[in-house]
Amino acid sequence: MTVPRELIDRLASIPNVSVSEGTLLSGLTRFGIGGPAALYVEAASEPAFAAALQIAETSGARYGVIGAGTNLIVSDEGFDGIILRFTAKEISRDGALVRAEAGAELQSLVDYCIDHGLRGLETMTGIPGSVGAAIYGNAGAYGHSIDERVERVRFLDGNASRSFTVSECGFRYRESVFKEHKDWIVLSVDLRMTPAPASELRATAGEILKIRLAKYPVSMKCAGSIFKNLILAELAENVRLQIPDRVVREGKAPSAYFLEQVGAKGMRCGGMCVADYHANLIYNEGAGTARELCALIRELKSRVLTRFHLELEEEVQYVGFPLTEQRA
Ligand SMILES: Cc1cc2nc3c(=O)[nH]c(=O)nc-3n(C[C@H](O)[C@H](O)[C@H](O)COP(=O)(O)OP(=O)(O)OC[C@H]3O[C@@H](n4cnc5c(N)ncnc54)[C@H](O)[C@@H]3O)c2cc1C
Repeated sequence: MTVPRELIDRLASIPNVSVSEGTLLSGLTRFGIGGPAALYVEAASEPAFAAALQIAETSGARYGVIGAGTNLIVSDEGFDGIILRFTAKEISRDGALVRAEAGAELQSLVDYCIDHGLRGLETMTGIPGSVGAAIYGNAGAYGHSIDERVERVRFLDGNASRSFTVSECGFRYRESVFKEHKDWIVLSVDLRMTPAPASELRATAGEILKIRLAKYPVSMKCAGSIFKNLILAELAENVRLQIPDRVVREGKAPSAYFLEQVGAKGMRCGGMCVADYHANLIYNEGAGTARELCALIRELKSRVLTRFHLELEEEVQYVGFPLTEQRA
């Protein structure tokens, strides 16, 4: 598809919006994979993003929203439509109430809170990506997730800007109402933090970052965990009985346990490899493709299904695939 010239011109005429045609999405994803977007649009302010989104929605073209691309598998064919990104990144506070725009880096928000002696996000140090996507996927690590601190989320629902309290956001493990309504785009979040000595928070974050950097070197082309962990209480009894107590953490069975049992560590498909030290981590050696990545994911899911009668669910999000292919 080529996006009509008239549509490109309308988008390009919005102040604080930049557009580019045929942008390779591989350059915008941490996996380093993905073909071109027919049109890539960045909006650096809320009014600009709202105007661009409205045009995209009413244009009849396919559209999608991405953040920093750290949790995406983009098809080798790319995206036959408009990819939008909201890049406004202001972070401010009123005492212990912190507001962050969705385009801010989560790490900048974590650092801001630590520097201002505000406890609550320090265990999320080292999680890459934007604040908006962290809300979308309820990002978290080390026993905490961002919803614990959320007071309000402002978002665009397709027509207007609205705001939800934390209970309305439907947060669960790596889930939110925004994942169910993919056309609801997060604009900003208010977080209620707790005053604490900055030095203490910095020490906690420093320890965690050391461990994370060993597991996910900065140059590694990956998306963190490929599959979500499994909530023990939601598993069938015959599956639960196969899981040793020692691997259960915070009521969850790590997907890595099942993957390890089916020989995932060190598996590969072309340039895509499962880490030999972590069965739920796939990385691109360099020239890997989305096709190879999807084949590896399919094989892993099939092995776990056959051995444990358990359907693993991807944490990563797909862009540019027909729905049937995503689930294959
Ligand atoms: C090395 C590594 C380690 C990781 N470790 C963790 C971890 O410990 N814990 C964890 O939770 N995650 C982890 N992740 C996954 C990733 O960091 C998170 O999912 C992150 O929130 C993705 O942010 P992003 O901006 O890159 O989003 P993208 O990958 O660009 O997009 C992810 C999804 O968010 C949606 N989205 C983006 N912006 C918005 C918005 N403003 N409003 C609504 N939806 C939006 C997109 O449509 C897409 O579906 C890791 C990833 C990597 C590469």
